[in-house]
Amino acid sequence: MFTHTSRGMTVSGEGTADVMLTCMRCLDEYCQHVHFIIEEELHPEPGFAQRRGADGFEALGEVCIRPDHTLDLGEIMRQHIVLHLPVKPLCRTDCPGLKELHPDV
Ligand SMILES: [Zn+2]
Repeated sequence: MFTHTSRGMTVSGEGTADVMLTCMRCLDEYCQHVHFIIEEELHPEPGFAQRRGADGFEALGEVCIRPDHTLDLGEIMRQHIVLHLPVKPLCRTDCPGLKELHPDV
C-alpha cells in the first residue's frame, strides 16, 4: 500500500518469504519462513529514505526513487527480510548438530 504524505510517501505492507539458511549446528540447509511488516517513509530526494525504528529515524542509503517515479521495492523487502532472520539459524530447535559428533546415533 502506498500513501502520499506532505513530506514524501509511506510504503506499508506485510509479506512472507521463504529463505534458505544454513543451520549453525548441523550445517544443513533448511527453509526459514519469514514474516515481515514493512513501514517506510520515503522522500523524493534521490537515494534518500528513512526508517521509523526504535532509535528514531535511520537513513537508508540504498533505496531510491527513480526519475520516472517508480520505486525499487526489492531493496526495501530484502532489508526487512534480513532484519527478521534469526541471529542463530537452526533447522529445528532440538537440532542434534553434526552427525560426526555423535558416532553412536
Ligand atoms: Zn540442524
